[in-house]
Amino acid sequence: MEGVRMLYLAGAFATHAVVGYALVRAFTDADPRLGVVLGVCPDADFLFPAAWNWPLVHRGLTHTPLFALGIVAGAYAIRRERAVPIAVGLAMGSHLAIDSLSSTGIAWLFPLETTWGPGLAVHGLSATILLWTLSLGVLAWRTDVLSRAQ
Ligand SMILES: [Zn+2]
Repeated sequence: MEGVRMLYLAGAFATHAVVGYALVRAFTDADPRLGVVLGVCPDADFLFPAAWNWPLVHRGLTHTPLFALGIVAGAYAIRRERAVPIAVGLAMGSHLAIDSLSSTGIAWLFPLETTWGPGLAVHGLSATILLWTLSLGVLAWRTDVLSRAQ
C-alpha cells in the first residue's frame, strides 16, 4: 500500500512540476526551471513533522494565497525583474488552483481556518492526463509563437 501512495505522490508532484514549467515557459522570460521548483514548492509541507498542528500541516500555510503572495514579494525583492515574480505567481498559483479543486481544498481565506473543495480527484488518472495534455498544449502553442517572434 505504501508503494501505491508513493506512486500517487510522485504523479502529483510531477503534474505540479509540468504545469508550472509549461506556464513559466509559455508566458514569461524567466528560467522555466523556476516553474518546476515553485510548482512543487507548496508540497514542501509534506516535510513538516506529523505532530505539528494547523497551519503547519499538509495543505495548510504553504497552500494559501497569503503564503504565495509572500513568496512573490520575496522574489521581487531579490530579483527586481518583472518576469521572476510573475513566474513565481504562475507556478505557485497553478498549484493552489489545482489543489483547491480537491476534496480537502485549500484555505483561500487564511488565516481563517476554512477549507472547501468540490471534491475532484485532481491527482487521479483522468485529471492527470488532462493537466499534462493542457500543459503540453500550452507549450506547443506558445513555443511556436515564441519561435516565430525571434
Ligand atoms: Zn499541494
